[in-house]
Amino acid sequence: MKKILTALLALMALVMALSLSACGGGSGDLTVEKGKLHMSTNAEFPPYEMVKGDGGFEGIDVEVAGLIAEKLGLELVVDDMGFTAALEAVQNGRSDIAMAGITVNEDRLANMDFTDSYATGVQVVIIKADSPAVQSIDDLASAALIGTQEGTTGYIYCSYPPEEGGYGEDHVVAYETGAVAVQALLAGQVDCVVIDNQPAQEYVKANPGLEILDTEFAVEDYAIAVKKGNTQLLEQVNKALGELIADGSVQKVVDKYITAG
Ligand code: GLN
Repeated sequence: MKKILTALLALMALVMALSLSACGGGSGDLTVEKGKLHMSTNAEFPPYEMVKGDGGFEGIDVEVAGLIAEKLGLELVVDDMGFTAALEAVQNGRSDIAMAGITVNEDRLANMDFTDSYATGVQVVIIKADSPAVQSIDDLASAALIGTQEGTTGYIYCSYPPEEGGYGEDHVVAYETGAVAVQALLAGQVDCVVIDNQPAQEYVKANPGLEILDTEFAVEDYAIAVKKGNTQLLEQVNKALGELIADGSVQKVVDKYITAG
């Protein structure tokens, strides 16, 4: 009888140990889908995220997310959607992280949690080189229409009323993507486009006749968004990101996509 009891106790201890390790905060149990790390993004933001020729995804965010997933023992899944939808997905728990060159600002901090920053973003102004309407940042105040991408800080800043440093909603057009905003500029439908510096460089390279004004519009921090209150996942992602910054892995990815000079 004593033997049976001892065996039973040992078995119970084993079951408890196993179930404890199963819910002990391993990353796999904190994510939307077991064993996967879902990243919501808008893959129209070169060189941070874009669709590859074969339909897969590439870019700085995609690769850094891949390295984070690897460290957490998870498989990265990229969920491509609109920019606003990508932010909503992480808030609603439909994705684990959102990475889309996302600028940390107060409004967003109220609705989601962010890791430490992994890159600096700069809002710049693209104009047509021969633009009669906008040749300097001061001209934005008199520009008839400013093109932006919906939901982005470029849109948010520009659409503030003039007394709060913006130009008023009536002077700002929000397009679905940065690329569409640039097409509108080329077609003469807007006088300039306010957008993040890195995609701006790519658009200017691809479209002769466009240039970027020297004066920066705003300097911001990019970070990874996690659902508000999911502190365990936030800590794990942040720790992995910190290690990847410290050992130079993030810089290596940045250098691969952004050639200095
Ligand atoms: N950095 C900008 C923002 O967070 C734009 C990001 C984007 O267009 N993907 O609003």
